[in-house]
Amino acid sequence: MRIAIYPGSFDPIHNGHMDIAQRAANLFDELVLAIYARPDKSLLFSVEERVSLAQRVMAPYDNVRVEPYDGLTVEFARSLRAQALVRGLRVISDFEREYQMALMNQRLSSAVETICLMTSYEYAFLSSSLVKEVFIAGGDISPMVHPLVLAALEVRNRA
Ligand code: ADP
Repeated sequence: MRIAIYPGSFDPIHNGHMDIAQRAANLFDELVLAIYARPDKSLLFSVEERVSLAQRVMAPYDNVRVEPYDGLTVEFARSLRAQALVRGLRVISDFEREYQMALMNQRLSSAVETICLMTSYEYAFLSSSLVKEVFIAGGDISPMVHPLVLAALEVRNRA
């Protein structure tokens, strides 16, 4: 059984994340989209909300499940018996951070291999923070997120 985890904050999940998740799911028997509960950044959605949104938008993909986690990513990978940790690469600036994290994770656990997938052309400049910023400023983000995510942002904006 080949298992991979795809870790991140997913605040909220957007089409660039979904694209990486779908493509990774084609490479493994099971993909666990792992939602980091307490990242070192300000969040719009709670971990329960981020998990619920990701679960609903990824529901059509049979071999993808969504789990929250805390603590070390490699420990979470180990607990699931995952052999790989998938990350997405957009621009050069992502590379430096991903490279550092991959080497650190390699030191922490040689049992988990980091695999980076290149973004698809249309999502190269898509990020959760940009989605939130454009939405709050009144821009149309419907081509960038699943309709359920758009609805969740609208509810949050009205609250
Ligand atoms: P983090 O909080 O770890 O930066 P994110 O939720 O922002 O996590 O992203 C999770 C992963 O998805 C990261 O590897 C990130 O580089 C990748 N990612 C984010 N947006 C895109 C995109 N548009 N295309 C490809 N990969 C992406």
